[in-house]
Amino acid sequence: MDKLTPEQRHRCMASIKGKDTKPEMLVRKFLWRRGFRYRLNHPRLPGKPDIVLRKYRTCIFVNGCFWHGHEGCGLFVMPKTRTEFWQSKVNRNRGRDKRVKQELANMGWHSITIWECQLKPSSRDMTLESLAYTLNKIFLLNHGAKTYNTPVQEPAVKVAEERTEYWSER
Ligand SMILES: [Zn+2]
Repeated sequence: MDKLTPEQRHRCMASIKGKDTKPEMLVRKFLWRRGFRYRLNHPRLPGKPDIVLRKYRTCIFVNGCFWHGHEGCGLFVMPKTRTEFWQSKVNRNRGRDKRVKQELANMGWHSITIWECQLKPSSRDMTLESLAYTLNKIFLLNHGAKTYNTPVQEPAVKVAEERTEYWSER
């Protein structure tokens, strides 16, 4: 392995460990506690989404800020050595993330991305509460709840994109 700062190495190891990395566990525990039922790494959906809520037709991706290249995020700092190598790795992941979300949207699925940094203790509660709120909103929308300011014909795809942007904002 290349020379990495302790923090980068930690992130690297966490990513090798894979499925049960801590940020994803936080989300899963929250969902379970709130009665949202899900399955993991659905093999038949594009990108094998981390968390799939069928009832909500929603996939949740819990992204490491470094590996998925979280724009403008303090956890996404390119290593000073072998920069091109890391950059192209991150670019590939970004490209794949984008493709996967588009494919899911085409199939009528919503995607929500939660970034690792949004699960830091200081912002965790807010992030998770927003997640629950978003899921309930999606559920109502999917089931044709009519409100005065929501156009009923709004395509599901648009919502997925809006949500994605919202979660990427910070
Ligand atoms: Zn981040």
